[in-house]
Parts: sequence; C-alpha cells; structure tokens
Amino acid sequence: MSIAIDKSKCVGCGKCHEVCPGTLIKIGADKKAFIKYPKDCWGCTSCLKECPVHAISLYLGADMGGSGTTLHTEQEGGLLRWIFESPDGSVSHIDVDPRESNKY
Ligand code: SF4
Ligand code: SF4
Repeated sequence: MSIAIDKSKCVGCGKCHEVCPGTLIKIGADKKAFIKYPKDCWGCTSCLKECPVHAISLYLGADMGGSGTTLHTEQEGGLLRWIFESPDGSVSHIDVDPRESNKY
C-alpha cells in the first residue's frame, strides 16, 4: 500500500507530516510534502483526511480488491467524500459525516 502526493496541490501546511503515525511524510526544501519510502505506508488514511487541499491519494492494493484503484478525499458541504478512481476510468464515492466517523 502506498500514497502519492500531488505537489502541484500541496500548500506545505505540514498536517500530513504531523499526523502520520510512522513519520513517513517529510516537508522538502521546496516546502512541499513527500514520502521517501512509500512502501512503508500501511494505509491508515490519516494524511488523506487531514490534507486541507486533498493532495494525497492512496493506492488500494489487490488485497483490498483495489488493483490500481486510487482513493482520495474531498470536502462536500459538511461531508467528507471518499472518492475511488479505477484504472478503467470509473469513479465511485462514499460520503461520510466526520461527526459520525467512528461508525466506519
Ligand atoms: S496513509 Fe497513514 S501511514 Fe500512510 S503515509 Fe498517510 S498517515 Fe502515514
Ligand atoms: S497536508 Fe496536504 S497540503 Fe499540507 S503538507 Fe501535506 S500534502 Fe501538503
């Protein structure tokens, strides 16, 4: 499992660096976040949820039925939208109310 950070979206706030339980994400000299060893990521999704500009995507491995599908989040009103993009171009999503996130 691994993440990808879209540097063109990253605003260098450092939130992903702060929340990653494995301290895997660093902020570079260019003030952009990067992950040096993506394979060490275990997919907890904390960084996806915290990134204010939704610059981080998670690759879903075959063990999760993903096989190339990526997951990222976007804010939709008061909801956090989890968006799945498959290699065939199909897109699906799940809306989660952050106030009830312990249900999921
Ligand atoms: S998904 Fe979790 S373990 Fe992976 S980089 Fe993000 S915060 Fe760290
Ligand atoms: S949380 Fe998002 S915007 Fe902030 S440093 Fe990380 S990738 Fe960049």
